[in-house]
Amino acid sequence: MPDLPRSFSPSSASLWKQCPRRWRYRYVEKLPDPPGIPALIGTFAHRVLELLCDEPATGRTVDRARELAGQAWPKTAINPDFVALGLDDRQVHDFRWKAWTAIEGLWALEDPTGVEVRATECRVTATVGGVPFFGIVDRLDRDGDSLVITDYKSGKAPRGADRPKSLDQVLLYAAAVEDSIGERPDRARLLYLGAEILETAVSDDLLADTTSRFAEAWHEVGAACSNDRFNTRPGPLCGWCPYADLCDDGRAEVERRVSAGRMRDDAPARALLGL
Ligand code: SF4
Repeated sequence: MPDLPRSFSPSSASLWKQCPRRWRYRYVEKLPDPPGIPALIGTFAHRVLELLCDEPATGRTVDRARELAGQAWPKTAINPDFVALGLDDRQVHDFRWKAWTAIEGLWALEDPTGVEVRATECRVTATVGGVPFFGIVDRLDRDGDSLVITDYKSGKAPRGADRPKSLDQVLLYAAAVEDSIGERPDRARLLYLGAEILETAVSDDLLADTTSRFAEAWHEVGAACSNDRFNTRPGPLCGWCPYADLCDDGRAEVERRVSAGRMRDDAPARALLGL
């Protein structure tokens, strides 16, 4: 019977909601889930922006960001996950161009010389909704009397009904920061680099709703661990599941979507399953 994890994070909760079986492969069996190109671009952009925000405010310029990107690149180039992608020179150039576009996209959203950064990459351990929480907050800012949670995103901003739900992560960070330092952040925002800022005030109602859904997911995890029952939840994301070759339901879902012409050519599970 699997042990209950020591802590729960927003990304773990999100994966749980997507598919409990995938969650089991990832968090119980600890099978590799290697990041793809978009995730590695995001990691590199995050690193450069972290370094930039550690500079004195007046030094946070585009030119300085370019220098920091150049300094940070060699470490990324030898990262085993990046090496495993096996990119050729043109693809590496494309990777670096996309990463730089994300980094430079910060200036389309804010002037970083005017931001009072209180901390970057803060590791927060807390209790949220009765759940042992762990998360890493990209940036904690002070804006006058307000405390602001900021998280960078290098992908596309969500549309329609997915927009409010995408703020769950930063609202949980706000609850965790409040539990950890005794001060509630006033705002929580997602910076979709180069695109837009998605932001919310941190209200009692929003926190109660978000933390109760987080706690509900945690209780579901506990029940699944106690009877070792982790259901599959087949859907379009099976095409991006690194465990599709281990999962009969996922394999059937991907095959069905491929034969119906409803699976993108670049979905990694196609190669995994030889489709
Ligand atoms: S292939 Fe689909 S159903 Fe199977 S574990 Fe992955 S996401 Fe879940």
